[in-house]
Amino acid sequence: MLSSYLVMSVLGIIIILLIISLIKLGKGDFQQLALKMAGEDRNRLEVLKPCPVCGSMLKKGQTVHSVYYRNAGRHENLKVEEIFTHIYGCPHCWPDNSQHPRTCPVCSKTLSKDGYLVARTYRKAGRKDHVHVVGCTECKRVR
Ligand SMILES: [Zn+2]
Ligand SMILES: [Zn+2]
Repeated sequence: MLSSYLVMSVLGIIIILLIISLIKLGKGDFQQLALKMAGEDRNRLEVLKPCPVCGSMLKKGQTVHSVYYRNAGRHENLKVEEIFTHIYGCPHCWPDNSQHPRTCPVCSKTLSKDGYLVARTYRKAGRKDHVHVVGCTECKRVR
């Protein structure tokens, strides 16, 4: 009598453990699905990037016209190259036009006809460029 009761309870425990592991598996699948969806969202966001000059959303292939002045400086320890960059605008706002006024994200003034944003591009091998706008021809003196 006692042994059959023991077998029953052991069986019960095994069933409970099975159910728990099934629930855990289900959760894992859901988490993976959620992660996958988040990744897809991120990809979609990467396709649409705002122009730093006029704020227009840019599709893949639409590039911002920038002029690089290389070897302006180098962060030796981090192996990051700092490049002086002049940003003129995207296909919407460059050449200068009235439909898409070019504004500086630092001083929020409208750029003059041949004005540009003054930026630093940080370039590291195997990484995407990091562009930091420091001002424009209106608010930043150009050397
Ligand atoms: Zn633009
Ligand atoms: Zn400015």
